Amino acid sequence: MDFIDALKQNDLEAVRRCPKADLHNHFVLGGSQQYLLQHTGKDIQPIKKPLHSMDEMHTWNHRNMGDTFESSEGRRLLIRAAFVQAKEDGVTILEIGEDVWGLGEFFHWNIEELVDAFETAHLEIAPEIELRLQIGMSRHCDIAYLGDCLSHFWGCKAFYSIDLYGDELAQPIENFRSIYRRAKAEGLRLKAHVGEWGTAYDVRCAVECLELDEVQHGIAAAEDPSVIRFLVDNHIRLNITPSSNYLLGRVEDLKSHPIARFYRSGVDVTINSDDVLIFDSDVSKEYLRLYQCGCLDAEELGAELPRYELIGRGLRVHFKALESALIDNPKVPKDQSDTLDDTLDDTLADKIIAILKSNPQVTQGEVADKVKVSVPTVKRTMKMLSDSGRIVRKGGRRYGYWDVNE
Ligand SMILES: [Zn+2]
Repeated sequence: MDFIDALKQNDLEAVRRCPKADLHNHFVLGGSQQYLLQHTGKDIQPIKKPLHSMDEMHTWNHRNMGDTFESSEGRRLLIRAAFVQAKEDGVTILEIGEDVWGLGEFFHWNIEELVDAFETAHLEIAPEIELRLQIGMSRHCDIAYLGDCLSHFWGCKAFYSIDLYGDELAQPIENFRSIYRRAKAEGLRLKAHVGEWGTAYDVRCAVECLELDEVQHGIAAAEDPSVIRFLVDNHIRLNITPSSNYLLGRVEDLKSHPIARFYRSGVDVTINSDDVLIFDSDVSKEYLRLYQCGCLDAEELGAELPRYELIGRGLRVHFKALESALIDNPKVPKDQSDTLDDTLDDTLADKIIAILKSNPQVTQGEVADKVKVSVPTVKRTMKMLSDSGRIVRKGGRRYGYWDVNE
């Protein structure tokens, strides 16, 4: 059964069998409830109703997690539980990692020991999953302290990305600029939690200030159409966690979750679990819930952006096999794809090129308005033009311009 049918038939097991990515998963609360029950006797129960404050979340944590896992062995157990959970969920790309303070706390300040804990669990439990190892930081931490911790991580090629989480209002985002500059130089993909408790303005500021590639949540951006447009134009992906947003009172209900607005506006969005144990939220359930409440329809949830490739003088389009939520930037390109030949819409391409010539700094959103097609169509066409060398982006992603090759 394909993914769209699985959704339409409300068949959770069939949804689980389809490949998916989980790019927003805090492994400490991301493990398999059953696996942890078997290994500790602890019966961790998710919340059922929205929480009224973060204090309630701390109370839940204290009651359900306590200090059971506050040891090197406990931490390793949580890592293994996260792989067990991801495997059961049908996750094929899992982005998780340790908080920088955990290196000293659980791994003797030994970066190889930390990486080994993840890689060993990965190989033992789910070697078929692509692991994207992440460096995590809490926003309330002192910058100098974070710098000390991070000095152990820099230069380690095992990491894929860096993320910032914790109290979004704890300190100004500018404080983290130097850390993100360094992370960028290290070749890491740049992410941060923003726009969960903050505003649309905060989302834009964080993206510009830290040069983020992806935003964890970012849902507040829905309040401001100019920020939505900014995310589209700059190809900023939002890794969204619907149940978590609902249960933390960030959205009224799932049906009105802004993910539909983002998706229909051309923002790259992915669907993720956040904290499985507290929100009962694996990726398969998140897809089904969004479908069942009518937030997005099955075709929308199952759609993927095609990927274009230049072959000789022609273009080939790959429709990825599955609906794993618009994932790109793989470390190892996966090619399970069906392929078929496609050609550029020449009329549209000519119109776009004429616009770029007259206004090289035009945004993709403005182009869409002018040619009266959707933003995703403009993005797709410009990607094909760019891949074939007919147009070139110069001077950087954010403040650059388009150069047309005749
Ligand atoms: Zn999160």
